[in-house]
Amino acid sequence: MNKQIIVSMKDLRYASILCPHCNTRVTLDFAKEFGGESDRDRFKSPHQCPRCHANYDSAIPTALDAMQRVYSNLREHEKAVNFVVEDETPAP
Ligand SMILES: [Zn+2]
Repeated sequence: MNKQIIVSMKDLRYASILCPHCNTRVTLDFAKEFGGESDRDRFKSPHQCPRCHANYDSAIPTALDAMQRVYSNLREHEKAVNFVVEDETPAP
């Protein structure tokens, strides 16, 4: 039996996007919406790499925006809803 890891919604707070052109990795904070009123504090998925300005696959920001909505909704139920990750790493 594989080891299982229980993950709560708050542990899924960050996501990162890797640019396939220049390998720049951008980290997004799904909790940002809770931070404040200004645009800078609000969550917004980037559509292009901040370094080389190549556009990401258009499905990526759409999916990340959807994920942020799920994060916001489920975060209120973090005691009731957990995620289970199966660790398939072979035992040493
Ligand atoms: Zn790039």
